[in-house]
Amino acid sequence: MTEPQAIDRRTLLRAGGVLGAAGALGGAGAPAYGTTRPDHWLRPGDEGYAEAVAGFNTTVTRGPEAVVLARDARDVQKAVRYAGRHGLPVCVMATGHQASVSFEGGVLVSTAAMSGIQVDERSASVRVGPGAQWGPIAEATAPHGLAGLAGSSVSVGAVGYTLGGGLSPTFGRLHGYASDHVSRLEIVTADGELRVATPEREQDLFWAVRGGKGNFGIVTSLDFGLFDVRTLYAGAILYPAEAAADVLPAWRDWAAEVPESVTTSAAFVRIPPEAPLPEQVRGRLVVSVRVSFVGEATEGARIVEPLRGVAPVLLDGVEEMPFTDWGRIHSDPEGPIPAYERTGLLGGLPDRAIETMIALAGAGSDSPMALVEVRQLGGALGREPEVPSAVGHRDAAFTFFTIGVAPPEREEEVRAYADLLIGAMEPWSTGGAYVNFLSGDEADPADVRRAYDPQAYERLVSVKSEVDGQNMFRLTHNIPPR
Ligand SMILES: Cc1cc2nc3c(=O)[nH]c(=O)nc-3n(C[C@H](O)[C@H](O)[C@H](O)COP(=O)(O)OP(=O)(O)OC[C@H]3O[C@@H](n4cnc5c(N)ncnc54)[C@H](O)[C@@H]3O)c2cc1C
Repeated sequence: MTEPQAIDRRTLLRAGGVLGAAGALGGAGAPAYGTTRPDHWLRPGDEGYAEAVAGFNTTVTRGPEAVVLARDARDVQKAVRYAGRHGLPVCVMATGHQASVSFEGGVLVSTAAMSGIQVDERSASVRVGPGAQWGPIAEATAPHGLAGLAGSSVSVGAVGYTLGGGLSPTFGRLHGYASDHVSRLEIVTADGELRVATPEREQDLFWAVRGGKGNFGIVTSLDFGLFDVRTLYAGAILYPAEAAADVLPAWRDWAAEVPESVTTSAAFVRIPPEAPLPEQVRGRLVVSVRVSFVGEATEGARIVEPLRGVAPVLLDGVEEMPFTDWGRIHSDPEGPIPAYERTGLLGGLPDRAIETMIALAGAGSDSPMALVEVRQLGGALGREPEVPSAVGHRDAAFTFFTIGVAPPEREEEVRAYADLLIGAMEPWSTGGAYVNFLSGDEADPADVRRAYDPQAYERLVSVKSEVDGQNMFRLTHNIPPR
């Protein structure tokens, strides 16, 4: 396989507009950064700057003094060297899906245009650029009968997602975290060097980046394994929120017995009135039970059957589907959205925990939240991979996650309610968190620490101190060096 060069057409067109503007300003309008400045950069006020710093989650604000629109690893190296010379922090952004820190100053490296995807059918693997999103990746792998451990949303960036672990609602319990299947990565570290990390080379870095995320440098290409999956028996069954006391305990008991080929979650979801869904669910608070089974559809239907009888069903969307339709399991919003999130990990989901969720998020509650979700872990997610990584808390039983979508005037209310929910679930919390679900309200290093097992955290700090002692890559969920 060669370097990922191909850029998907839509991104290229979008980047073309931005790059065109940057080029036009390359002369008189350019600040005096010298001849070694990155080639494709924007300054505040430049055409395209506002678009380049905006991400999926609009609660994060980014005001870098320079944006680098990277097209390849060399652009990334130049940006990092430039930041190093000027003592500036660096933020990397592919899609802006994750709410971490808002900031002013520093350098933002946009990897959106580095969205190359190269499938190698022979080794059942793919090499992706740091701007590649799951939708195009699935479209590229499907003709080969192969699929990766995609996240719930088609527009999440595969690299950011995988470096945070990568918890897939498709077949995560069958094959573990996406990062468990990474075989090679290229990364530009704070010294501007492009390093290759594999299970044999740069072993500490290879361990740390898989789970430790954007703290160690900017990943410019990632290779990971694919699986022989063409179809899923998958989707969501929606019940009225009023049936939660019947649905949630039944789901939990059912989930405890299903094979690892079933990945599942349950959530209170407030369906927007304008959602492209049938009328009976639009504008309603529902309980959504999400299921994904890898195997024969008849076997999937047999496994799912008990769920269909636990309460009146508003909408049954669980069916055989091509893998490329997996986004229908969660039907995540397209964005951009102002989303406030909080998260934790649960050791179990006893009746009392379910009653608490129902009281605070169910029918008749005052909940302003758009989503209150538990995802079942276990299976391969609970086992160390062949090549260990920094991904922590493999013994947790469920993730707990809530999102409120709010304009600025309702921000206080939503944040306070998310806080209330997290506090109420505390008795069942392991104290840990899953790094990909950490939010802007959980970006303090003490919160980030929660995402790792104590020994792993110490090792992460050691690796960080070695490769980024000045903490250049701190504009993220940061692991500070010693
Ligand atoms: C709608 C939605 C659905 C989601 N579903 C899932 C899910 O099912 N499972 C799951 O595990 N997560 C899920 N997530 C969380 C998601 O995986 C994280 O937000 C992830 O960080 C997104 O990566 P990104 O590149 O798209 O985002 P960005 O916001 O662009 O990047 C987020 C962070 O990723 C790191 N990063 C990104 N690119 C690089 C790079 N090239 N080198 C080094 N670090 C980098 C940096 O730390 C950066 O701050 C979801 C998020 C949303 C908004």
